[in-house]
Amino acid sequence: MIIVARDLSPADTAGMVREPAMGFITEIGTRTSHTAIMARALEIPAVVGAADALLSIRTGDMVIVDGLRGEVIIHPDGARLDDARARSARHLAFARGLLSARDQPSVTACGTPVALKANVELPAEAILAVDHGAEGIGLYRTEFLYIDRTTQPDEQEQYELYRAVLEAVAPKPVTLRTFDIGGDKFASSFQLPAEMNPALGLRAVRLALKQPDVFLTQLRAMVRASAHGDLRIMVPMVSTVHEMREVRKLLERAMNEVDRRGQAHAREIPLGMMVEVPAAAVMADVFAREAQFFSLGTNDLVQYALAIDRASRTLASQASPLDPSILRLIANVVKAGVDYDIPVSICGAMASDPLAAMLLVGLGLRELSMEAAAIPEIKEALRRVTVAECEEAAVEALACDSAENVEEVVARYFAARLYDLLTGSSEDPLVITRTSSHPPRL
Ligand code: PEP
Ligand code: MG
Repeated sequence: MIIVARDLSPADTAGMVREPAMGFITEIGTRTSHTAIMARALEIPAVVGAADALLSIRTGDMVIVDGLRGEVIIHPDGARLDDARARSARHLAFARGLLSARDQPSVTACGTPVALKANVELPAEAILAVDHGAEGIGLYRTEFLYIDRTTQPDEQEQYELYRAVLEAVAPKPVTLRTFDIGGDKFASSFQLPAEMNPALGLRAVRLALKQPDVFLTQLRAMVRASAHGDLRIMVPMVSTVHEMREVRKLLERAMNEVDRRGQAHAREIPLGMMVEVPAAAVMADVFAREAQFFSLGTNDLVQYALAIDRASRTLASQASPLDPSILRLIANVVKAGVDYDIPVSICGAMASDPLAAMLLVGLGLRELSMEAAAIPEIKEALRRVTVAECEEAAVEALACDSAENVEEVVARYFAARLYDLLTGSSEDPLVITRTSSHPPRL
């Protein structure tokens, strides 16, 4: 069964854990929209942003969903069907082959370690993360706990869930992000004002600070969970130092409250922030004195820096993380991390694109977090390149005047060597780079 829909909520997609579809097609969405993030996390073949899919496809039609190429083929003839089946089998064999290296260290050809962690939305994914060789969880999107229900999760429910995730990956670290509700992540249990631009409205840390009781409930649950593993807390959508200072005060209050009840918790809980608002990237040296670590959220950074809605299908091809403006923002954040000696990682979808990942290493990143399924291929890509050539490519990329030119640079340096990882099979010709999210062909 293949599901064809105008859109699927993250909760609809998550429901496919219980009733798996062979694939899905949506008319709305881009590579960084939450439906696509969930599809990749759950390893469900999907093509999103396929305009007119509902008009073109009828119940009972035979359809090929090619998530690697971003193609939907309706009524394929026998030859196309055979070809698709053969490609699918080659891809599965290839992915299994990559997975067999999951216990190998993640290092470049010159021996430099690059930590690969997993992004997680659902508790069940913690096991997937370990299975794919993740060195921890770099981003746990806790907002999915609040979505698709009418009441908010209480402290005990959250504590048990965070604890289970920590125990599943222990002794590896887990970075829990406080809820990023708002924007395209609606939660009916929050009374959010109707806004013209929800992505620019009351969301994430802004909402948390407006509803301190709800936020404190989450913080206390996290503080209690810290007794069971290596836990870090990360704040989404920070745009002013005031926000970080307020969150720190609330975290201290949550720790005191847990203490007073006589409940255990870690003495120190690192508090870091997402860098996903351009203001924070530009002021990274100032924020480096407020946060204990940075994680680059390029999905939103691209949206806000280029002023392109991350859900816009029409503009998807222009919303490139390889735009030189984004690379310069990243370079600025990495520099602040070095100058102030705080760790910098990235958890945006850019990290799971093999070509972009090489550039990120060249820009100085040594920790990448991505959907678990992408870890084996990025690990393999890293083994084929040296830091020196990544740095050389990054210097050239930073001097480019457009995303297209940056794409040419990374393709020239790395595409031939990574062609099998870019196509998802060692035998298929290189037809696309997945860096640019051009609308799919139908
Ligand atoms: C990001 O913005 O890059 C990110 C990782 O957060 P999310 O995709 O959940 O907004
Ligand atoms: Mg974000």
